[in-house]
Amino acid sequence: MRDKIVAGNWKMHKNAEETEDLLNELIDKLPSDAAVHIIVAPSFVNLASAVQHLEFTNINVAAQNMHQAKSGAFTGEVSAEMLTGIGVNSVILGHSERRAYFNETSEILKNKVDAALANDLVIIFCFGEELKDRQANTHFDLIEKQLSESLFHLQEKDWANIILAYEPVWAIGTGETASPEQAQEMHAFIRKTIDVKFGPAVSQNVAILYGGSVKPDNAKEIFSKPDVDGGLIGGAALKADDFVAIVKAAM
Ligand code: PEP
Repeated sequence: MRDKIVAGNWKMHKNAEETEDLLNELIDKLPSDAAVHIIVAPSFVNLASAVQHLEFTNINVAAQNMHQAKSGAFTGEVSAEMLTGIGVNSVILGHSERRAYFNETSEILKNKVDAALANDLVIIFCFGEELKDRQANTHFDLIEKQLSESLFHLQEKDWANIILAYEPVWAIGTGETASPEQAQEMHAFIRKTIDVKFGPAVSQNVAILYGGSVKPDNAKEIFSKPDVDGGLIGGAALKADDFVAIVKAAM
C-alpha cells in the first residue's frame, strides 16, 4: 500500500514574516501523528528558515525549482547542492508555470532531474495537459511524451526518489477541478505507462499526486480514487485551515 502525500506549493507568496506565521499555524493545527507525508514549498529566500522552523516536526520542506548545473555563471539561479546544504530534501520540478513562463523544456527537465538525483533530492515531478490537448483528445499521448522525455532514461533505483504530480494545466488556479473520475482515469494511465517501461516494482510503488484546484470540499473524493496518492496544492496551501483540512482528507 502506498502512503498518501500532501504537498503545498506556495509559489511567489508569503514574505519572511508571513512564512513564519503560516508555519506556526501549520505546526499547531496539523496532526503530528498523521499517516500522511506532508511537504511545504516556500520561496527560495525562506527555505533555510523553514527548514530550521520545522526541524522537530513531521513537515518536510521542498524547493519550487533548481538549476541543472552543479555551479557556474548562472545569475539568479540556485543549485541542487545549495538546497541540500541548507537541509532541503525535496524539489518540485516541471511545474506548468515554469514550463510556460520560463521555457522549461523536457530536455531541461531531464537535466534537472539528473542533477536533483545526483544530490539525493526527492523530486516532485509535475506534468499535465492543456485544455486544447484534452479537447483534441491528445492528452494521453502528451502525458506519455512528457513522462518519456524527462524520466524514461532513469534506472529502477532512481524511482525511490520520484513522486509524480499530474496537474492538468486547465485546472491550476482556475477553480476548475478534474472530476475524480477524470483524475483516476489519467492516474491509471500514468501508472500503466510506468509499468510498461519499468515494471510493477516501480509502477506499484510510485506515488502519483493530483494537482489542480484541490480544496477542502473536493479533496476527499479525489484522494479516495485508487491511483490517486494525494495532492499537490497551490492556492489552498496558503491558508492553514484549508491545507490542514486537505491533509485530513488524505488520512
Ligand atoms: C499548483 O499550482 O500546483 C496548483 C495545483 O495550484 P491550485 O491548487 O491553486 O490549482
